[in-house]
Parts: sequence; structure tokens; C-alpha cells
Amino acid sequence: MPMTTEFEQRLYPILPQIAAHYGTPFHIYDEVGIRDTGRQLLEGFARLDGFQEFFAVKALPNPEILKLMAAMGFGFDCSSVAELTLCRQIGAGPEQLMFTSNNTSAAEFEVALQDGGCILNLDDISLLEKVPQLPELLSFRYNPGPRRTGNDIIGNPVEAKYGVSYDQLEEAYRRARDRGVKHYGLHTMLASNELNYTYMVATAEMLLEEMERLSAALGIQFAFVNIGGGLGIPYQPDAKPLNFSAMADEITARMAAFKQRNGYMPHLYLESGRYMTGPHGVLVTAAINRKEIYRTYVGVDANMSALMRPGMYGAYHHITVLGKPAGVDAEVVDVTGSLCENNDKFAIQRRLPPIREGDLLCIHDTGAHGHAMGFNYNGKLRPKELLLRQDGSVALIRRAETLADHFATLKFEPDELAPERSHPVSELRN
Ligand SMILES: *Cc1c(COP(=O)(O)O)cnc(C)c1O
Repeated sequence: MPMTTEFEQRLYPILPQIAAHYGTPFHIYDEVGIRDTGRQLLEGFARLDGFQEFFAVKALPNPEILKLMAAMGFGFDCSSVAELTLCRQIGAGPEQLMFTSNNTSAAEFEVALQDGGCILNLDDISLLEKVPQLPELLSFRYNPGPRRTGNDIIGNPVEAKYGVSYDQLEEAYRRARDRGVKHYGLHTMLASNELNYTYMVATAEMLLEEMERLSAALGIQFAFVNIGGGLGIPYQPDAKPLNFSAMADEITARMAAFKQRNGYMPHLYLESGRYMTGPHGVLVTAAINRKEIYRTYVGVDANMSALMRPGMYGAYHHITVLGKPAGVDAEVVDVTGSLCENNDKFAIQRRLPPIREGDLLCIHDTGAHGHAMGFNYNGKLRPKELLLRQDGSVALIRRAETLADHFATLKFEPDELAPERSHPVSELRN
């Protein structure tokens, strides 16, 4: 169940006009769909006082999208200087910013603490010594290692570089407490694109149990429990969507039981990226070539720079051809971009309606980790982004990259250094 029928009905009738006006390729995002999903999140957890979604900015880092999130009352999960800066530029304050970094640099901490700071979520016990000034509210990312299994995209927790280990966790909070931290959070992020909702329930339960253990050992209470992102979306037409309401009900029940046992309830935080925007975007690209060799190749005007997931993870993205119903005279083709990499394919041996030059293809579910993950190998430029607004109008919210952008970091006049050779190499070896 990729693109919803409603999104198709909003987009398809106007797509030729949009393509003619702006030119292909482009990602286009659906404001109505994003708002619907936002409402679903809020309604699902309505019984939990202080529930908060922190949209994972890396999924779709565009200011117009971030403003939509802010309008729904959401905060932002950031993991880089660029993401923090972008959120501050659209007006996000310290309480709306969660900073979950890893292998964090001094420069990143410096920016994180500027402008009133943010909610710091530390990835390692050693970082306590490196934060220039510990805030009053602090959380740690927990990595349960062999106590949990992860999934394909994010990897097994034992091999994952993220978080504080089980054995370090108590010591991490003790040191934080002894250094003056007053309020605490606990975070984890173990799965990615997980469609089985019980995995997230088990994650919430695990965190609540850890909080009880830490509270008993250290006499601290927790302000929030952050179950991270990783809620999956059905990329395959026959995949079953995540049962969000069952997940929300069961987590709400676990939170209530925690309150019964402990006399208070921390706020529940969620950091959904993919679930919020993934299904509400499509990459629109025109067929420009058709090649018959050992296989049939349909060449389109977008390539990996617009969408890495198929090449990087072998991910399936559903494809429809505008005006050509699926199944009618279907033929088996590879849909390819133009990179010098054979994995620059949007579909491999896919049954699609017969595609002719000029046909518009919609590559579904590119609203998260799509444009944002693009890269410039081969000097391929990233495409534009459009927003289909609630009122039916269309807005260009990012222009396509130009060669001038791409060449901007090159030094056509090299900036040179002539190092002094005061020490022979043989001396340096001693
Ligand atoms: C990537 C990431 C998310 C969002 O993941 P989705 O799969 O898009 O929901 C949330 N939190 C952290 C810490 C992340 O790294």
C-alpha cells in the first residue's frame, strides 16, 4: 500500500501541468497526508499527558516541512550542526530541540548549547566530560546490546556504534547526578522501518524497566522516556501497514502501569521521521531513453542523486506510470538513472506498463530519507522539491542544484602551503 489513493487523486490530475511548469525530475510532498499522519500520532497518544513527537529532521530537512511540523506542535530530533541551525532558523526553541548525535565533536556541542541550548541526548558516558556545560536536563541513548535484536537497516545492537551499554548506564546517570544534572531522560533507537508494532512496545517496556532500575539505584526520577523513531511504512504493495493504534494503546497501558508502580509518569517522546513523511512524497521523473540489450532498460531523467535507497539497501520503491494502469500489457524492465554505477536503478526486473519516452513515472514513498540522502558522485545534481499544499496550490520549496553550486567548493586557484622541511623524515621516526 504505497502512495494513498487520496494522494494519487490529488496529484495525478495536475501532474502534467506541474511537470510542464517546473520541469522534471522533482520530489513532491503532500501537505494533507503529512497533517493526517501528524493527527494520527497525536490522537493515538492523546491519553498521555505531555506526549511529544520530535520529527527526525534528517528524513526531510526542508524549512517548509519543518514549519508544518512546528504548526502541529512537534519538536525536532537533530543530529548535526546543519539540522540544529535549520530548526532554529524556523523558530524552534530549546524545548523543541532534541540533539542526538554520535561521535560528537567539540564544535557540535558548542552549537548545541548556543541560543538557550537544547535537550542533550548523550551517546556515550565519556561525553559527560566533554560537554562544556552540562544542562539541567540530560538524557542518554541506551544500547541494550545482546538484550535485544535489531533489524537489517540499523543492524544488531551488539554491533551498533550507538549508545551507552547496559553495564555503563547506572554509572552514566550517577556521574550526571553528581555533576549537577537535575532532570533526566532515557532514549533508545533500535529498529528502522519496523512494521511489527510489538517491537516498539517491547522497546518502551525495556526503557521503563531500566528507568525503575536506575531510580532504585540512584534515587532519581525521569522527566521523559524517548522510544526513538524506526516506525515502518509499507513500501511493497502487499506489505501490511504498522498497526499504529494498537501500538499506541499498548504503550499507553505500559505507561499507566509504570505510574501505578512508581507514582508518577514521565512524558513519552517519539522521533518518527519515515512514518511522518515517507508515504507523503513521490519522485516524479520522465522516461528519456529505452534500451533493448539482454534486458530492457527504461532510462529516466532522475538518478541516485535523488534517491539512494534502492542502490544502497536494495530497497523496493513502488512505481506507477502516469495514465497507464498497472498490469495492462505489462513488460519486465529495469528502470535506471545515468550514473556510472550499475546499482543506479530504481527498479530491477519490474513488471510495468509499456513505457515510452516522455512518460511520467512516479517513484513512491520518497518523502523520507529520499532527497536528503542524495549525493553528487559523477557530478550528478540533486533535483528540486515541491510541496502540494492543502489548498491545492504547488510551491517550489527547494530549487535544483546547479553546476555553480557543485563547483562552489573547488579551488580553481589552489590555496597553497609550502611546508618548511626543518626535520628530516629519519628524525621523525625516532
Ligand atoms: C534516524 C533517526 C530517527 C528517525 O528514524 P525513522 O526511521 O525515520 O523514523 C529517530 N531518531 C534517531 C536518533 C535517528 O537517528
